[in-house]
Amino acid sequence: MARRHRIAVIPGDGIGKETVPEGLRVLDAAARRFGFELDLAHYDWSCETYAQTGRMMPEDGLDRLRESDSIFLGAVGWPGVPDHVSLWGLLIPIRRVFDQYVNLRPCRLLPGARTPLADRTPAEIDFYVVRENTEGEYSSSGGRMFAGTEREFVTQDAVFTRVGVDRVLKYAFDLAMTRPRKKLTSATKSNGITFTMPYWDERFAEMAKRYPEVKTDQFHIDILCAHFVQHPDWFDVVVGSNLFGDILSDLGPAVAGSIGIAPSANINPEKKHPSMFEPVHGSAPDIAGKWICNPIGQIWSGAMMLEHLGEKDAADAILKAIEDLLAEGGPRTRDMGGNAGTVDVGKALAEAVARG
Ligand code: ATP
Ligand code: MG
Repeated sequence: MARRHRIAVIPGDGIGKETVPEGLRVLDAAARRFGFELDLAHYDWSCETYAQTGRMMPEDGLDRLRESDSIFLGAVGWPGVPDHVSLWGLLIPIRRVFDQYVNLRPCRLLPGARTPLADRTPAEIDFYVVRENTEGEYSSSGGRMFAGTEREFVTQDAVFTRVGVDRVLKYAFDLAMTRPRKKLTSATKSNGITFTMPYWDERFAEMAKRYPEVKTDQFHIDILCAHFVQHPDWFDVVVGSNLFGDILSDLGPAVAGSIGIAPSANINPEKKHPSMFEPVHGSAPDIAGKWICNPIGQIWSGAMMLEHLGEKDAADAILKAIEDLLAEGGPRTRDMGGNAGTVDVGKALAEAVARG
């Protein structure tokens, strides 16, 4: 019997409606060639749904998603709908309820992509950022005291649990073990943040003992950001807390070139719950509706999804198609200096995957 994967598809807003169909086109080509089936459930949840119903997704939305093996998302957010509505009405509940505690972003300079760093070659920018995605600095714990008076003060707690820290560190070490360089860098700030960050460092050192083959180092987040720009070739896998990982996971793809090609994954490594795959970019209202956006970030996110589902050969084939298209001067969208449309790029990649 053919392998079957149940995918919940949420195009969302803006260019998500343009990139997701191209992502599905390429996934379909991969499924045919590698002999598995994709069972798609489409959900039109978006800021439009919010305008009509007052909710980003129906009340039983999470229960419906729970039935799937993975979630394939476009982009969520639109001008006029505040972030706390679009994010907290859809993305954040999915990440939290499904315990997607790893946010993973490959940062790779692909041939033909325009990195803002001069003289860097693809071999020199090829690393992963692993962000803790559920706790740390982004807790909802804290408060405001003496509001409106001169004594007014505000606190926000950062919460680092042993379970939460260890599981993301373990994921990062395991990922480093799969890489030729086997190197892991930790983001810290233990000179300024004197409880949580020393604890993070302590757990990192403890976990390192279990992985003697992995070379480790650590930097304070400020100088680490500088090194991303000046020495991207130093990095292989980089792990950070929710806040530091958030910063690095935008900086990393930025140094690697076009925002239009960067993929990301929100992963529940134990596969108890569905994981979610989405491009790094947002809904891009400035170019939405013109069908000129780059679908590669979405398509690469689809490759990450297939790898997570155990379809490694299919994932590799998609990545190879992307690399070949860019190296060989295939159709490319405006953000990469071409004039092809979204659909042209999607079709070219689907054909390349089908051909092998
Ligand atoms: P969000 O806050 O939802 O992450 P944003 O508003 O900060 O999103 P984007 O929506 O990603 O940012 O857009 C930032 C810029 O990048 C815009 O000028 C947009 O047109 C451009 N852009 C984003 N994605 C793509 C894409 N796939 N192809 C081409 N250009 C893109
Ligand atoms: Mg925005």
